[in-house]
Amino acid sequence: MIAAHATDVDRTGAFPEASIAALAAAGLLGAISAEDAGGLGLGVRGAAEVIRRVARECGSTAMVASMHYCGAAVLEKFADTDTRKAVASGAHLTTLAFSEAGSRSHFWAPVSTATAGGDSVILDAKKSWITSATNAASYVWSSKPLAADGLSTIWLVPTVASGLTIHGPFEGLGLRGNDSSPVSAEGVRVPASAMLGADGAGFDVMMGVVLPVFSVLNAACSIGLMEGAVERTAKHAGAIRHSDSGSSLAELPTIRAYIARMRVKTDMARTLLEDTIAAMETGREDTMLRVLEVKAAAGETAVEVTDTAMRVCGGAAFRKEVGLDRYFRDARAAGVMAPTTDVLYDFIGKAVCGLPLF
Ligand SMILES: Cc1cc2nc3c(=O)[nH]c(=O)nc-3n(C[C@H](O)[C@H](O)[C@H](O)COP(=O)(O)OP(=O)(O)OC[C@H]3O[C@@H](n4cnc5c(N)ncnc54)[C@H](O)[C@@H]3O)c2cc1C
Repeated sequence: MIAAHATDVDRTGAFPEASIAALAAAGLLGAISAEDAGGLGLGVRGAAEVIRRVARECGSTAMVASMHYCGAAVLEKFADTDTRKAVASGAHLTTLAFSEAGSRSHFWAPVSTATAGGDSVILDAKKSWITSATNAASYVWSSKPLAADGLSTIWLVPTVASGLTIHGPFEGLGLRGNDSSPVSAEGVRVPASAMLGADGAGFDVMMGVVLPVFSVLNAACSIGLMEGAVERTAKHAGAIRHSDSGSSLAELPTIRAYIARMRVKTDMARTLLEDTIAAMETGREDTMLRVLEVKAAAGETAVEVTDTAMRVCGGAAFRKEVGLDRYFRDARAAGVMAPTTDVLYDFIGKAVCGLPLF
């Protein structure tokens, strides 16, 4: 079902409604939610497996599901039981609203505000990117703190809240169905109980709850894209022949070596992903380093692998006959998603050199 819709989603830029509904019907939007909320309780390992498998067919669907799982991880920790149950059931699609026009990819330092307004809180913001902006039921939202010290506070904002304007539709290079639009908030009122975690503690939620889940799922998405690209490249290389020599593309050693390198790089990234999840599950000392590494490594490798796929499949890939250009375009998104690859390299370099990250 997800595979059947993927090409149309990419061509039209439409939200992958049927694919997300299929994941919900299978209970998979509750993969990361706890069993007491009606979820599958599969943790980040299970969620990563879903994302990797989905991304092999449709990057847009994988992206929407990734952001849902990231929001769900926060809601699992801080939201009320009814919200957790709705998210786990798949009836309530959620997402993250961290990036802003002011702070751009430096999501840890929002410039949007939360001010007290009687018995409610008023949010004003210019959010620059929210995946599933039009289709989600809620945004897990960052702002400057209400009254406390600190860099940020996190809120649960229903997408039907008055004062929200979605500046869509999304018209992107890749992940074209992910419905990622700017959203502005002018005098949006939420109850004080919409605060997720303590006032001023948003940084801890971002780094402690969201970052590990986002990095792993983003890496899983990159790996799924690579696996999809390797599969399609090998199939094409085995299927077409040059009439002068009678040999298939796969019979050319140059082509085989490219495909071999694609597979080696894909497997290296997947092995790093496995190790990162193992580090998280056992609380290993190098967990944070692995979390930073895995998104950068998988994202960069996916750009290389899908670039090679385009080269191997030649003009047929350029003309969309192989369906690889979608993977090539989708793979480029991970590097600019915050924390971006360059920011990650800076953080990793600081960690290796024993310097503070912030
Ligand atoms: C498909 C897609 C979906 C998205 N979905 C969401 C979402 O659901 N929620 C959300 O909150 N955000 C989302 N984002 C936004 C994303 O997380 C980033 O915030 C955004 O892509 C950053 O783009 P920018 O042009 O503002 O980056 P800029 O901050 O302007 O960065 C431009 C370049 O400068 C580099 N750079 C910036 N700062 C540094 C630094 N300190 N050190 C080294 N290099 C640096 C960056 O790496 C980048 O190459 C999404 C982005 C994409 C592409």
